[in-house]
Amino acid sequence: MSRILITGVTGQDGSYLAEALIAAGDEVHGTVQRGDEAVPAGVQPHQVDLAAPGIGTLIAELKPDVVYNLAAISSVYGSWQQPELTARINGLAVAEMLASARELAAAGHELRFVQASSAEIFGSPAEVPQTESTAIRPTSPYGAAKAYAHSLVGVYRSAGVWAASGILYNHESPRRPETFVTRKITAAAARISLGLQDRLELGNLAARRDWGWAPDYVVALRLIAGAEHPDDFVIATGAAHSVEDFVRAAFARVGIADWQSHVDVSDALLRTGDAPQQLGDASRAHEALGWAPTVDFGGIVDRMVDHDLSVAAQA
Ligand code: GDP
Repeated sequence: MSRILITGVTGQDGSYLAEALIAAGDEVHGTVQRGDEAVPAGVQPHQVDLAAPGIGTLIAELKPDVVYNLAAISSVYGSWQQPELTARINGLAVAEMLASARELAAAGHELRFVQASSAEIFGSPAEVPQTESTAIRPTSPYGAAKAYAHSLVGVYRSAGVWAASGILYNHESPRRPETFVTRKITAAAARISLGLQDRLELGNLAARRDWGWAPDYVVALRLIAGAEHPDDFVIATGAAHSVEDFVRAAFARVGIADWQSHVDVSDALLRTGDAPQQLGDASRAHEALGWAPTVDFGGIVDRMVDHDLSVAAQA
């Protein structure tokens, strides 16, 4: 049995990860921001606001075997509204965690630190597909904060701390909130097909993303934590699709071929610095960890739409 600390345990990835670790018999602790949030069953909650100092003290007291840092301001768009908060939570908090890991290592307790890094560190990527050595040049406050955290993981690894990163491409599930385009689309397609909603308003339909299945990415994070050596790993499917592809597939799933008559494009939803395409090459994770995605694009769309049909039917 291992003692695990998950920051962001109430989010999509944190909840899948906590469930998997608890099923495997681990002792799972999680940070919560306010203290009144529901945590996955079996998780021991700790109230820590990552916008302020405190997470280092929790790590020093708890002495976990593994820390998964999944807490983040998760919206690229929202990071333009809250650049300082994004820097604190997505960046500075990682410095505190790694400093704490280094102190514990010096005292003889080796902690494994796994960072949820992001494809957004590559901004509008310099090459296609992206690998662990693609140039880091973010184009949003979110990407810049994640790039700082990603760099720090490398710095502390060089200093002897067991620190690794999963450079995660977009990964989706029915647990995504509708602030993400995938869930916004699947929820709308379900409601429109049932006559519960008229129209769907979207921004950049041409943006291409490498969308994976969130539970697969949680498997990758566990494999990274169990690796022989800490390293950085791109976690991606290797297939990119446009937002328009996603819309077409979601509406097809509910039996609507003419999706155009339900969708409006709004300039207000376009983003500054939006990457036209992200596409990851996960060869290193495949070769070193044996990781491979198990659900493809069509499977992700279908699962999310089917979930949203059942939610809408109950409403
Ligand atoms: P992100 O990549 O983590 O920010 O995930 P999102 O799901 O929010 O955005 C993925 C892509 O969808 C980006 O290129 C967005 O510009 C694009 N997009 C197009 N329309 C929308 C929309 O209405 N909402 C969101 N969230 N994204 C949109």
